[in-house]
Amino acid sequence: AAKEMGRNRFNYFTHSMQQHAHYRMKLIQDLREAVAACDFDVYYQPITDLNTQQVVKVEALIRWHHSTRGAISPGEFIPIAEDTGLIMDIGDWIFRKAVNQIVAWRERYDIEVQISINKSPIQFRDEGQRFDAWFTYLEQKGVPGSCVCIEITEGLLLEANDNVSEKLLRYRDNGVQVSLDDFGTGYSSLAYLKRFDIDYLKIDRSFTNQLEEDENNVTLCEAIIVMAHKLGIKVIAEGVETKAQVEILQQMGCDYAQGYFYSRPLPCEQFELRYLAPNKRRHG
Ligand code: C2E
Ligand code: MG
Ligand code: MG
Ligand code: MG
Repeated sequence: AAKEMGRNRFNYFTHSMQQHAHYRMKLIQDLREAVAACDFDVYYQPITDLNTQQVVKVEALIRWHHSTRGAISPGEFIPIAEDTGLIMDIGDWIFRKAVNQIVAWRERYDIEVQISINKSPIQFRDEGQRFDAWFTYLEQKGVPGSCVCIEITEGLLLEANDNVSEKLLRYRDNGVQVSLDDFGTGYSSLAYLKRFDIDYLKIDRSFTNQLEEDENNVTLCEAIIVMAHKLGIKVIAEGVETKAQVEILQQMGCDYAQGYFYSRPLPCEQFELRYLAPNKRRHG
């Protein structure tokens, strides 16, 4: 009987593995079609200046609404896009979309919003000629590089080859800013903070969302902020969900905050209505 059970378990196991493989293959196929049809949305999450409480920047976050499965989170499909190389076209698409949005907002509201765009290490590694195409596109659209910020992760800096530092330098030469995303979750080698020029450091939300409960987290965040400031780097706290967290971060001298306390990522029209349209009214 035990043997029988074992066999059944095994069958069950292979069956679910097959299902998983099938699910994944279908998802890859659907993702490929979505990329071909540019069937994505961009949501915008405000980044608030903790001194003035003004929204000064915004992060672009991709959304995929699957025809039968509904919303699939980037946490699920971005890794698949990276494995399949589809991330390259997705990256180009969201970049262009963001640049066009900057132009539209400038025309409509007479302000230049800086948009942050996530760029995974694989995009950096495999992009080849596409790299220059981004600068060409900015030029064509008449958008200064300073309206764009690229969010990279620690993994990229660990690879630490000349290619990476050269590219980061090219960004900065063109006025594009660079953020280090999810800080504290990777290897967090402090050496690369010295080696690479970075404008912002984003403290991962696993630190910010424990600020009230965990005194050690307060100490850690404070140390990160002091260190960043000494290196001339501004700090953005991610995943800020409560007023208490905002107050602690303000006391610590953190520069910016992003999170559900201020706003969830919003569809373009809602972001405009809430953050840009009132601005226009104020100025007549
Ligand atoms: P990320 O760049 O660290 O983006 C922040 C994530 O935290 C977003 O998840 C955002 O919705 C979520 N978030 C913001 N505030 C809060 C909060 O107060 N509480 C909680 N619990 N979550 C909050 P999202 O949109 O699901 O994106 C997940 C990740 O997928 C991003 O993490 C980024 O690494 C990646 N991603 C998203 N869009 C793109 C893209 O266009 N290109 C690439 N390469 N990666 C992307
Ligand atoms: Mg990010
Ligand atoms: Mg992050
Ligand atoms: Mg991330």
